[in-house]
Amino acid sequence: MIKLSGISKSFGRVQVLKSIDLTVNKGEVVVILGPSGSGKTTLLRCVNYLEKPNDGEITIGDYKLDCKHAGKKQVYELRQKSAMVFQQYNLFRHKTALENVIEGLLVVKKLPKDEARSKGAALLEKVGLGSKLDVYPSQLSGGQQQRVGIARALAMEPEVILFDEPTSALDPELVGEVLEVIRKIAKEGITMIVVTHEMGFARDVANHVVFMDGGIVVEEGPPAQLFNHPREERTRQFLKRIT
Ligand code: ADP
Repeated sequence: MIKLSGISKSFGRVQVLKSIDLTVNKGEVVVILGPSGSGKTTLLRCVNYLEKPNDGEITIGDYKLDCKHAGKKQVYELRQKSAMVFQQYNLFRHKTALENVIEGLLVVKKLPKDEARSKGAALLEKVGLGSKLDVYPSQLSGGQQQRVGIARALAMEPEVILFDEPTSALDPELVGEVLEVIRKIAKEGITMIVVTHEMGFARDVANHVVFMDGGIVVEEGPPAQLFNHPREERTRQFLKRIT
């Protein structure tokens, strides 16, 4: 359903992604693990072209893009197929929770305002913020802001949601509520790629775990295999450090 083939990315002379291949089936939750600097965020950003890969192919559903030859129109099409949830939430400060959620529905999907508002309200209800529609981000906790970010991603009905360390900016006591919401929408069968250091979440929720180091996929497999019987020494060392 989502297929990355030979994705490479360099910043200046430093090659950060070295021909990454990854397949994600429809409805699957794939967790990407790896030490800091291994290229996890860059890979995620390449999937919706926040970073332009130097080489490779991205297929989402029936849409395929050749990164070397893609023009503006193809990139625009690709971007419609995924939505990103950011570490720092990236909400508009001067818009309410509801306005943040419906921005894409109004501007990109051109939905009538009434329809966008009722859809946005239902999504905020779903992430447990039904009473916060008209509140500004500064009046919300980090966990609540991130839940607005998740509702905003859901609003676009993307084929895949990309989570970039969605809980790493949160105080520890707020991590649980955000993971709970992600868990809930995973159960609904929404395809997700999640970069996270939350091992408990990875074990419970992931269908497939990918371990990256030095810009390559070192090892991948179901969580039980990767956590309990890692094949590669680098994976073992990483897991030993983090757990
Ligand atoms: P991870 O998410 O695994 O911590 P990143 O994808 O953020 O890793 O970063 C991988 C490498 O790419 C790091 O060495 C980082 O410094 C570098 N990098 C990331 N973004 C940029 C950028 N915009 N310009 C230059 N170097 C970058």
